[in-house]
Amino acid sequence: MGMGLCVMMLGTAGSGKTSLCATFGKWLESDIKAKVAYINLDAGCAFTPYKPHFDIREMFTVEELMRKEKLGPNGAMIRAAELMEKNAGKIVNKIEKVNADFKLIDTPGQMEIFVFRPAGPQIAEALKEKAAAVAVYIIDPSLALTSTGLTVAVSLSIATQLRLGIPTTTVLNKADEVRGANIDRLLTDFSYLRSKVVKEKLGAMTDLALHYVEAIRTLSKATRLVKVSAKTCYGMEPLYDIVNESLCVCGDLT
Ligand code: GDP
Repeated sequence: MGMGLCVMMLGTAGSGKTSLCATFGKWLESDIKAKVAYINLDAGCAFTPYKPHFDIREMFTVEELMRKEKLGPNGAMIRAAELMEKNAGKIVNKIEKVNADFKLIDTPGQMEIFVFRPAGPQIAEALKEKAAAVAVYIIDPSLALTSTGLTVAVSLSIATQLRLGIPTTTVLNKADEVRGANIDRLLTDFSYLRSKVVKEKLGAMTDLALHYVEAIRTLSKATRLVKVSAKTCYGMEPLYDIVNESLCVCGDLT
């Protein structure tokens, strides 16, 4: 495996990035006997359920920025993102020096702080030059309660992939909570998804929603969505398989 595979966890706030780092990591250690390292890039977190091998909080924390620069929580998070961007090279060097088969990278709680500012793309770019890197985009079931919501969730995964430029696998977390089991059908049978979106009676927005369905049909492979639970450890083997597959695709392209 050489330098090890970097797996970046992404997803909206509360989707389970931190939890999945811990659970997937434990599974890789116990079932694959892999050497796993945990990288925390969330300067705002108070606690991590894993022991980080590199922690951005060694450099700065959101709390300390609030105090020192007299900022509110949002201002301090944005400041942290700026500092992360400024230090992207240094951060990636630290990640590179960590010796492991898998380096699980936990990203800032608020996804937009990382993905929709220069920090995320800068770090992804620097990382790609030095290591094999893939991303896992985590959908929170709260965004997948409606067919339109699910469509938006998948399109956010595509937007994230475009921003970071690394192969991205989409998973649905909190499988222990999900009731509607027809998400697979919705994402493999697009005429079914269209009919469900129409039934949601969005009025003037129906046309827009159907264009979105068309966009994700064109842009995402019609594949089964891997369902995981960071709480119960469900789905770790399929996650491992799909992460490896996404790496193979990346290998073919370069
Ligand atoms: P992050 O903000 O994306 O890093 O999300 P966290 O890992 O902090 O998780 C947010 C919340 O969702 C926490 O209360 C977790 O306990 C909960 N959570 C995470 N994964 C799961 C899961 O698979 N099932 C359930 N039921 N809750 C989960």
